[in-house]
Amino acid sequence: MKYLSTRGGEKDLTFKDILFSGLASDGGLYVPDEWPQIDYNALKKIDSYSELALEIIYPFIGEDIKKSELKSLIDNAYAKFSKSKIITFKNLKQREHIVELFNGPTLAFKDFAMQLIVPIFDYYLLQENKKLNLIVATSGDTGSAAINAVHQSSKINIFCLFPKGRISDFQKKQMTTVHGDNIFPIEVDGTFDDCQNIVKSILVDRDFSEEFSIAAVNSINWSRVMIQIVYYFYTLINNNISEDEIINFSVPTGNFGDIYAGYVGIKMGLPVNKLIIATNENDILDRFINSGSYSIEGVTKTTSPSMDIAIASNFERLLFDLLQKSSVMTSEKMNELKNNRSFSVTKEQSNLVKKTFSSKKINQNEVNDLIKETYKEFNYIMDPHTAIGLGASRVLNERGDNNFILGTAHPIKFSDTVEKAIGHPMQSTNEFFEMYKNEEKFYSFMNSAEEVRKVIKDNYSK
Ligand SMILES: *Cc1c(COP(=O)(O)O)cnc(C)c1O
Repeated sequence: MKYLSTRGGEKDLTFKDILFSGLASDGGLYVPDEWPQIDYNALKKIDSYSELALEIIYPFIGEDIKKSELKSLIDNAYAKFSKSKIITFKNLKQREHIVELFNGPTLAFKDFAMQLIVPIFDYYLLQENKKLNLIVATSGDTGSAAINAVHQSSKINIFCLFPKGRISDFQKKQMTTVHGDNIFPIEVDGTFDDCQNIVKSILVDRDFSEEFSIAAVNSINWSRVMIQIVYYFYTLINNNISEDEIINFSVPTGNFGDIYAGYVGIKMGLPVNKLIIATNENDILDRFINSGSYSIEGVTKTTSPSMDIAIASNFERLLFDLLQKSSVMTSEKMNELKNNRSFSVTKEQSNLVKKTFSSKKINQNEVNDLIKETYKEFNYIMDPHTAIGLGASRVLNERGDNNFILGTAHPIKFSDTVEKAIGHPMQSTNEFFEMYKNEEKFYSFMNSAEEVRKVIKDNYSK
């Protein structure tokens, strides 16, 4: 499998190349040059999550890692998940299923990618006897998942930027109480997008990132998307679905990484009708679906902070497809976005998007009501992000299709919001917080790329 940049500046790259560089030097995102085709009926016979992951991921990696070695990396990664089943399902109403993706060590779906990417990095680093300095911008869950995974590594340092006051207390503790001489949490006085911009500015500065052996594991890193494709297949294979049923996935969406993985799944042969973009008040994608215009607005702080973004970074990958893989046109649109803070697509292009995607914005009051009512009716406690997925699914499912809602985080991660909605403390709160009772240690800066660079210079490993 070869990879190229959506903006045309790089091509013929291997999986390893793009894993390590994350963002293309022309500012574009890496995409594979073709979609591997999967025989869905053959896949159906596989019931182990790890084996399924191997079949789906291997074609994207190709000769870079031997299949048997990849298998053991995958087996080890998913052995760290708590339940005997890596994914659990909760059926609410008939044809309304929550896909619980929060059985990993840090209780959000980000663990699926992080627990595997870090060992893949280690695998390459060990071969070359090198060290790596990972940099990540997080709206909460990516950072904790990455820190948990990197903590075990003797080859990797992690510099993790999170926005001050815009993540939950539990998320912050998950990042700041894991002590190790390779762990550097950095609080930035700004939004997630500010953190992301600092990371991008460091990554595009090739001299700096090469000198300090820097790589990124943001949702723009292709390997995360690739790994997340697996659970779409797993979900359908592990629920008895007859051939004639119409299936949709509702995906709580911020950076468009998770749902884009579903899109790639469809390109590979996943039998799904629609992907529902479920957003909070930060609704750039919902506005795009409704108007054909992609336009940046300020970030609103909500009770679903992992989706508080101004730009959906992975959207450029879909745009590239939509523009028939024209890197010239993709670059034009992205430049327009940079200069005018918006761009539009044609009516035909917009209709093409709507063939696969629909969208719905769910506001904070609705989230509160959804958590409350779901608890009353089904005795089931949902986190606010998952609630947005459920809300969007219900509004759009007039026909009674079979809808799967991605449960993206455990409710304990957002206990303040959840407890307000259900009206009493969650059980087991203490037990979870007990895991993160260490003293908090982290850097705290203004919104400054310079200060972040300095921390890296002072602490990087060669
Ligand atoms: C990251 C995250 C999302 C959004 O996923 P994207 O890939 O950024 O669209 C939704 N919910 C939770 C709990 C998350 O951590």
